Amino acid sequence: MPTTISLAELEAYLDEALPGPRMAAIEAALRQQPDLVEQLRAINRRRDAGVHSLGEVWRRQRISCPTREELGRYLMQAMDEEHIAFIRFHLETSGCRFCSANLEDLRRRMEEPLDEPYRRGKKYCESTAGHLPKKKP
Ligand SMILES: [Zn+2]
Repeated sequence: MPTTISLAELEAYLDEALPGPRMAAIEAALRQQPDLVEQLRAINRRRDAGVHSLGEVWRRQRISCPTREELGRYLMQAMDEEHIAFIRFHLETSGCRFCSANLEDLRRRMEEPLDEPYRRGKKYCESTAGHLPKKKP
């Protein structure tokens, strides 16, 4: 069965920005899937031409965590596909716990009925306090 590898992962692979086991898995997939090699070549050609995707730019500038506003737009899918792919990559592949907690918080707020924000608001804050990891200074 072919391994599914996203473009964002291939780019991270080129940057050697993935955990060891995932690097090895992609290396193995590249040996078996010529189309993946072709995708990798295409990324390299584009890089040689000086064109960088948003994800690459972010990685290069080491802006790893999306803002809360961006996470909100991600939840509503109100951003371009490349941006969505980058945040998904950050959450699922990089496994950022801070952003996952942030996203979960936003998701719950969006599910909150609009007619009772005050009554539930306080209870909500109390139940969430202490579960979110503290942001490093
Ligand atoms: Zn993050």
